[in-house]
Amino acid sequence: MRRAVCPGSFDPVTLGHLDIVARASRLYDVVHVAVMVNTSKRGLFDVDERIALIEECTAEYDNVIVESFHGLLVDYCKQREIPAIVKGLRAVSDFDYELQMAQMNNGLSGVETLFIPTNPVYSFLSSSLVKEVAAWGGDVSHLVPGPVLDALRGRLDRR
Ligand code: ADP
Repeated sequence: MRRAVCPGSFDPVTLGHLDIVARASRLYDVVHVAVMVNTSKRGLFDVDERIALIEECTAEYDNVIVESFHGLLVDYCKQREIPAIVKGLRAVSDFDYELQMAQMNNGLSGVETLFIPTNPVYSFLSSSLVKEVAAWGGDVSHLVPGPVLDALRGRLDRR
């Protein structure tokens, strides 16, 4: 069984993330979406909310598993016998850091990182930009799936 993981913070999941997960799900038998927990960074959504949103938005793919992990990505991979990390590359600016991480992870455990070039429609898109634009009342309906749009509205209205 060929397994891969798409890791990230997904605070919240965007159409850019979902495009990569969908494409990975066509290449691998099982795709794990790992919401990596960073205790020093409080997000807009807590980890359970992020997982629920990703699960709702990936329900159409029957080979996608969503879970959280607190620790090193290579340990997550080792525990689940996952040999490949799949990441989207948005622009050259992503490349420097992603290359370092890929080399570090490979050196730590032999896990490989595969890069999928982002759909150009989403090459400028990040969760932090979505939150910033939404917080100021900008329209992000073309950048996030419906359930995330509703959740963003609910969260930002309460502030
Ligand atoms: P970031 O890396 O921007 O802080 P995440 O940790 O949530 O955001 O993203 C996890 C991974 O998802 C990124 O490392 C990248 O591989 C992929 N990704 C994020 N945004 C996009 C996008 N717009 N298009 C394609 N892939 C993306």
